[in-house]
Amino acid sequence: MTSEAAKQTGQLVDQIFILKRTLGQFARLIEISLQLNSMLDPDELLQFIIESGTEILECEAVSVLLFDEGEKRLRFAASTDLNPDELAEIPVPIDNSVAGMIFTTNRPELINDAFSDPRIYKQVGETSSLPTRNLIGVPMNIGERTIGVIEGINKKSGGFTKEELDLLTVIGSQAAVAINNANLLSSLKRAYNELTEVDKIKSDFIAIASHELRTPLNIILGYSEFLKEDAKGELSSHAERVLTAAQHMRTLIEDMTNMNLLEMGNTEIKTSKVTLQEVVHEAVKEVQTIADTKGVHLTRDYRKDPLEVQIDRDMIKRVCLNVLNNAIRFSPKDTTVKLSVKTEQKFAQISVVDQGIGIPVDELEKIFEEFYQVEDHRTRRFGGMGLGLAIARAITHLHGGRIWAESGGAGKGSTFHILLPLAATKENAK
Ligand code: ADP
Repeated sequence: MTSEAAKQTGQLVDQIFILKRTLGQFARLIEISLQLNSMLDPDELLQFIIESGTEILECEAVSVLLFDEGEKRLRFAASTDLNPDELAEIPVPIDNSVAGMIFTTNRPELINDAFSDPRIYKQVGETSSLPTRNLIGVPMNIGERTIGVIEGINKKSGGFTKEELDLLTVIGSQAAVAINNANLLSSLKRAYNELTEVDKIKSDFIAIASHELRTPLNIILGYSEFLKEDAKGELSSHAERVLTAAQHMRTLIEDMTNMNLLEMGNTEIKTSKVTLQEVVHEAVKEVQTIADTKGVHLTRDYRKDPLEVQIDRDMIKRVCLNVLNNAIRFSPKDTTVKLSVKTEQKFAQISVVDQGIGIPVDELEKIFEEFYQVEDHRTRRFGGMGLGLAIARAITHLHGGRIWAESGGAGKGSTFHILLPLAATKENAK
């Protein structure tokens, strides 16, 4: 072989070697990208970035510096083999450091003679006892926004290359997106935990407040009842008004307590086999005075034979009370509220039909959400806390049933249906 041919063969071998190395780096880059996209913990992610960075660049240390919006400077988020607490204390000025320059110009940088380059920010080297011989750094971009810089220092042999700068640029943008996602997720988790904490405080407050309110309220209820019975004339009607107001307050307190229990998932349902018509009728008796006072006529149409259901009696009575109270509250004087109980396949169906203000069709589902009321001005006109139907729905679902509303729209009256599974009896099987 001539010396020229030997030289060419040597060059070819070198090229093949470089090509193989580049291919290996690309394969590793793909692995890193895939892993970056799947990591959600910010600390683990930063650790992975610096470890895979040092490996792929074959250098002594890699650092991730993130821009601190508040202090308008870069700060070390992670760095190889260095104490994160110490590094966090080192301010990296935007104006007087290579990282700052990469950040502001948004351009990668490669410095292979760091000792003589005045731009190298010396304080890091002094703190970390790792003097910088050479340096490679790229901006971390998400779209138009630069969130920080990744730097590698001290190539183990020789200097950093242009190809490595390209590799680090790809890692930089992938890492930026991954860090951003992980940070978003962890702030979401933090916000969720804070909300859960606040929610617990709210629930505890409601539980304590309603418990404390109940004792004086029972005294008011008891004495106004006596007064109503014993007093004569005007005094008796005053006592009746106090009694009605106190009963209303009791419903509000019960609603708050019930919603709290249902929300916390603490609700135990104590079921027994009962005749549904009896429970419905108890609720009717309780609202009769309110209906009479308002001039709303209550009519009943119960299926004759008793419908046996396996239910928590008090809870289902609460559902009937909430729906009936609403029907009366949202109906004008001299209208009728029709109540019926019948069967619908394997279910018992309670229906309450009123001729009141009606419900806009697109709100028929929303009214079952907590604190939802159709219109603000109605809140002032009709009172209520927007809890009655949310409680009714939660209780009905706990019983394996369903509740829904129908209406032709505003001014066209409303109908509420409640379905409850029939208990397995010979009667119900008919
Ligand atoms: P509230 O106690 O505030 O009425 P509910 O959960 O019982 O809360 O009801 C939520 C909202 O649904 C009411 O504020 C009202 O806007 C609407 N609504 C419920 N029942 C009726 C009805 N029979 N007729 C018209 N609107 C109703």
